[in-house]
Amino acid sequence: MPSPPPPEVAARAVLREVFGFAEFRGLQQEAVTHVIAGGDALVLMPTGGGKSLCYQVPAICRRGTGIVVSPLIALMDDQVAALRQAGVAAAALHSELDPADARATLQDLRRGALDLLYVSPERLLSGLIDRLDGLDLALFAIDEAHCVSQWGHEFRPEYRALSVLPARFPGVPRIALTATADPRTETDILAALGLDRARVFAASFHRPNLFLAAEPKLGETAQLAAFLARHEAEAGIVYCGSRARTERIAARLAERGAPALAFHAGLEPAAKRAALARFRSGEPVVMVATIAFGMGIDRPDVRFVAHLDMPDSPEAYYQQIGRAGRDGGPAETLLLHGGEDVARARYFLAQSAASEAQKQSMRTRLEAMVALTETAECRTRALLGCFGEGLAEPCGHCDNCRAPPALRDGTEAARMLLSAVYRTGQMFGALHVIAVLRGERSEAVLRHGHDRLALFGLGRDRPVPFWREVVRQLIVRGALSVATGEFASLTLDSEVARPILRGATQVMLRAASPSARSATGTAAYGGPVNGGPARARGTARPLPATVPPEAEARFAALRAWRKDEASAQGVPPYVIFHDSVLQELATQRPASLDDLAAVRGIGASKLRRYGAAVLRALAEG
Ligand code: ADP
Ligand code: ZN
Repeated sequence: MPSPPPPEVAARAVLREVFGFAEFRGLQQEAVTHVIAGGDALVLMPTGGGKSLCYQVPAICRRGTGIVVSPLIALMDDQVAALRQAGVAAAALHSELDPADARATLQDLRRGALDLLYVSPERLLSGLIDRLDGLDLALFAIDEAHCVSQWGHEFRPEYRALSVLPARFPGVPRIALTATADPRTETDILAALGLDRARVFAASFHRPNLFLAAEPKLGETAQLAAFLARHEAEAGIVYCGSRARTERIAARLAERGAPALAFHAGLEPAAKRAALARFRSGEPVVMVATIAFGMGIDRPDVRFVAHLDMPDSPEAYYQQIGRAGRDGGPAETLLLHGGEDVARARYFLAQSAASEAQKQSMRTRLEAMVALTETAECRTRALLGCFGEGLAEPCGHCDNCRAPPALRDGTEAARMLLSAVYRTGQMFGALHVIAVLRGERSEAVLRHGHDRLALFGLGRDRPVPFWREVVRQLIVRGALSVATGEFASLTLDSEVARPILRGATQVMLRAASPSARSATGTAAYGGPVNGGPARARGTARPLPATVPPEAEARFAALRAWRKDEASAQGVPPYVIFHDSVLQELATQRPASLDDLAAVRGIGASKLRRYGAAVLRALAEG
């Protein structure tokens, strides 16, 4: 009997034949060989890093069916559609399936006809698991494995029950995968899933195609408009802190003609499905969403993510911006933050019912997030630093690298502002206090007699935005807090405020408001800034964003063909071919099926199914 080929050889053959890729990326090769040989694994890779192949290739190479536990139906359906396109026998079992289809899938499973079966954890544990006894199983893959961690904001209690797998199916390798970079989540996953002998494959979490930027909130609407103006006809996400805000902002954007939709957990199921379908259609769309939108959204060409409210941890921030640029193309992110966000988050944390230990950990993460928004250093490096990863060189393309913020001493102004808060009785919001300092005789100022205070008008030579920055800095430092009532009045924290008032602690302010930079377009991504550091480019654009002019007509013809094909099959267009594949086709102009087979992302199955049509579309374009 011939001995089976060594794992490396089998894996490479599947990579070429089925997926149409010439080489494994990064840690894929090692992880794949390890699992084919029967080992357990934990794969930590950023979004777009190529986690799916780490279990798909072993499932195809090994005897039997690979069972993939996945938390979201949309995600399962996309994966299954993409695998079928590649000629892999894949199916999913979930609650939205027609009963006849589900029965057929179960039959296929029993017959050993499936390479991969995607299931939700609840489906696996309620009944399906008993049907697996005695079947040939290639592996268990546990996708989005961070859902097992109670510390994370995507905790799914059902995931905990997956700990029964090693005892019930000894000898079936398990591979857990996540894009979460947090070391504690990693420990949690290993413990909760009983992956004691797993090898950990941890890739760098650096995503050079993501452009990071943060700005204090000055005029949220104008800041968002300037950002979106750079992304017309593209798809992206605008994250908001509340459901009501998503609806308000989506409505405002839609009024101005933007293809904006609101998404949050409170939507009717039909509205939710419609919004998801729009997003997955491949059309330009601005999804204005709470954090309920995201996990399992694998649209590859998300070009921007904006945050109108600060996330509560660097982990959450990383995960949310990570939804952009899965295809490796450039993606811009913008975080708007205000002192009020910080104050509100601290307040809710203090009120939360969590245990003291949990609160302490949440507090540490919140303050790390605050530090990240305030940093004047390379923001990419600061973010990776939160996960214990270093970056030898500054990234060269974040806001701080492109236009280092000038800092100036604001100690005197801070003292003035703290005094004004104190003298007005700690009962007023920032606007009133600033009005007093600037000597404005507003109705409220006169009514309270604040025009008679010694410091009335002391700060009139500074504009309102300057004073808002002072307020923000003082809130960020904890010298001021904001009451979470109707009036958002400022109060002093005397322990932090006293050394500032005495002049013993320095307060630094950003000299020019960063939003002024972006509003004039100098901080816009993609182009050189202020003559631009040369190193900013190159690394930043791993893929061309578009095709050369002479290939444009061919690219358009291919897209039109793909759109028709996708709607005929009822699948999202990117399941058939990614934009990057179409770009390559349009640029390279393969003239025969043999030429086509050499293009990255075209495996044997797609060549058979679409080869002729692609050549026709190329000839037309
Ligand atoms: P993740 O699940 O880690 O977010 P995916 O598995 O969806 O990432 O892969 C991201 C993209 O990279 C996909 O378009 C996939 O086809 C592509 N990809 C993955 N591995 C390779 C490879 N070895 N060569 C070329 N492209 C790859
Ligand atoms: Zn940087």
